Amino acid sequence: MLDPYKRDINYLRISVTDRCNLRCRYCMPEEGVQLMPHDAILSFEEISTLVKTGIEQGITKVRLTGGEPLVRKDIVKLVEMIAALPGIEDLAMTTNGIMLNRYALELKKAGLQRVNISLDTMDSQKFEYITRGGNIQKVFDGIEAALKAGLTPVKINCVVRHSSDEPDAKEVKKFGEAKGLFVRFIHQMNLEDGTFSQIEGGEGGNCATCNRIRLTADGFFKPCLFNETGFQVRELGGLKAMTKAVNSKPKSGSKNKSGRFNQIGG
Ligand code: SAM
Ligand code: SF4
Repeated sequence: MLDPYKRDINYLRISVTDRCNLRCRYCMPEEGVQLMPHDAILSFEEISTLVKTGIEQGITKVRLTGGEPLVRKDIVKLVEMIAALPGIEDLAMTTNGIMLNRYALELKKAGLQRVNISLDTMDSQKFEYITRGGNIQKVFDGIEAALKAGLTPVKINCVVRHSSDEPDAKEVKKFGEAKGLFVRFIHQMNLEDGTFSQIEGGEGGNCATCNRIRLTADGFFKPCLFNETGFQVRELGGLKAMTKAVNSKPKSGSKNKSGRFNQIGG
């Protein structure tokens, strides 16, 4: 699918839930957020039908994100359903890693190819502070499990405040080098202000080469993380909602006052 600026849209990021088992300070308020009503959340059948439509339109890459994708019940089943669709060349997941030790092998067997795991610091107390209560050891166990299961290349998403020269980022980089992981640095963004930047070591944030559309857990196709526009699948039908999102992709991102990272998936 070509968008109005002739960018080839072949990458679909799917937020499978707005729920999360952490409360990262830059992503969610402490008390959590108003959750989407249960019946608004797309079923696995709806999601896989949308992916099939996407493939027919040129989608070859799919990433499952959230919220935390591993808290969605029976997520392995969804992976299996998507992996079984002919035409998917790359099937990945972005996770906080907390539950990955439990699921890595099953996910691999179901057809997941690789994972990105979020880790901003190597310090257990700082991790607990940033995530409001997370246990860093579980993430380390998750990383080991992902490597062992062959969910490779394992990439680390490291959110930095100002630069990848910050002490925490440097430690994460060192850890990544020792383990053979790719570390990507994401500058902390503010959707409302429209402060966004390119991902160091990744493709995100570069509007000129943006190849993605997003699907929210409650069934909106969104053309851009930094844009409030969305098209409801249940209202318009999958193909129309998807096409409208592609056709509304802005030349570059601006602001998004109503969306949140945990809803749109980062
Ligand atoms: N829960 C999963 C996780 O944390 O990896 C997947 C969803 S999370 C919203 C996806 C990515 O967005 C994570 O790597 C997270 O660090 C990043 N993220 C969340 N809030 C952000 C913010 N304000 N600025 C930059 N990145 C952010
Ligand atoms: Fe949850 Fe990921 Fe947001 Fe952290 S960044 S609160 S792990 S969705």
